[in-house]
Amino acid sequence: MAEHHSLMETDVLVVGAGVAGLSLATALGREGFAVTVLDGASRPSAPPGGVDLSDWDFRVSALTPASIAFLQALGVWQQIPSDRVAPYDAMRVWDADGNGHIAFDARDVVAPCLGQIVENRQVVYALLKSVEALPRVQLCWDEPLESLSRAPSGWQAVSSGGRCWGASLCVGADGARSRVRQLVDLPTREWSYGQSAIVGTVALSSSHQNTCWQAFLRTGPLALLPLSDPAKVAIVWSLDEEEHGQVAALQDPDFLRQLNSALAPSAPVAVAIGPRASFPLKQCHAMDYVREGVALVADAAHSIHPLAGQGINLGLADVAVLKEELLAARRGGLLLSSSISLKRYQRRRKTENLAMMAAMEGFKRGFGNRHPVALVARNLGLNFVDQQGWLKRWFMRHALA
Ligand SMILES: Cc1cc2nc3c(=O)[nH]c(=O)nc-3n(C[C@H](O)[C@H](O)[C@H](O)COP(=O)(O)OP(=O)(O)OC[C@H]3O[C@@H](n4cnc5c(N)ncnc54)[C@H](O)[C@@H]3O)c2cc1C
Repeated sequence: MAEHHSLMETDVLVVGAGVAGLSLATALGREGFAVTVLDGASRPSAPPGGVDLSDWDFRVSALTPASIAFLQALGVWQQIPSDRVAPYDAMRVWDADGNGHIAFDARDVVAPCLGQIVENRQVVYALLKSVEALPRVQLCWDEPLESLSRAPSGWQAVSSGGRCWGASLCVGADGARSRVRQLVDLPTREWSYGQSAIVGTVALSSSHQNTCWQAFLRTGPLALLPLSDPAKVAIVWSLDEEEHGQVAALQDPDFLRQLNSALAPSAPVAVAIGPRASFPLKQCHAMDYVREGVALVADAAHSIHPLAGQGINLGLADVAVLKEELLAARRGGLLLSSSISLKRYQRRRKTENLAMMAAMEGFKRGFGNRHPVALVARNLGLNFVDQQGWLKRWFMRHALA
């Protein structure tokens, strides 16, 4: 039985120090809220700055201009070393089963770039440096959340080491398998895609041309995301379970051969690969993001297919809206746990998150379909969109928003 320590009081208790939890703590801490962040893991150390294949995080995201603007406003973007950030100004998407293709270029919408690719751990570390400079934010590492119970002032949280925190608002930013979500009984709708994704860093024989490459294969989508080294990309290769097992077990030379045959002839050629990892793909959406004095953000509320490397953009948008609603509550003299502001947060975010999840699901199903009619339809669809300048610009403006 763990020994119980004295209770520490705070305004907002954030569980999870990933991109979502740390950006919320930074946003609220800068507004003078007292925030405590718990994470079950140890404090991350500075990420390596080298350019060997093993020096890159295989977890990368394509941040949209809106996410970048949010991180800039927090003073965090400026802390990410510029030589680890890769702007991309084009996307090439094609159907490996047919002749459908679509090309997006930043100059079509007169934008300097479509987004920037950044390693997850670079964003986490930049956030950490910002948050550690804020006097009213406390970070507690190696403290996995164990239990949550109602207390007169809100919620009482206990870690597995027996430390206790009291807070008026508890935010679950603890990722796809959220303990907060589980402890407060917020039900989810979830389904498995029957796929796993292989991630890793790949060296190319030529430049990636600051382009994201995305092939839709029968067995699942394969994306190449450009890194700041012009001859290296991060891959996210989603595969049906059976194929995944076979491909993941291949030795590097055979793996590269398979990768190149999946990419040919549209994309650059892969010549070497660093360490690889796999993770199962599940779509999971909490039916409600909030309860009395509790809110879920980012992957804790919704995890989506990594098809377009978009995961964290939805999470950062959740954080931005929750911060706005909490500031509005404070200005209006409401408690931070006020269900009016929490429900407004939920309303504002759920529609957009559901729309994005439905779009990813549609893509996934459309391209997973082996029926010849579906094949022709999607090829015509891709080519049609590619040829309609206005429609393409419409898609891109939505992707940049
Ligand atoms: C291997 C891998 C590769 C990925 N690659 C991509 C990609 O290429 N593109 C993409 O868009 N998305 C990718 N994703 C998904 C993407 O990383 C997530 O969308 C994003 O990181 C979510 O951020 P988050 O802050 O919500 O959660 P997380 O980054 O999962 O952070 C959650 C934090 O909560 C902590 N935590 C968990 N449980 C507890 C507890 N009980 N008590 C205290 N702390 C706890 C964890 O230690 C962690 O620090 C990948 C995910 C994985 C696992």
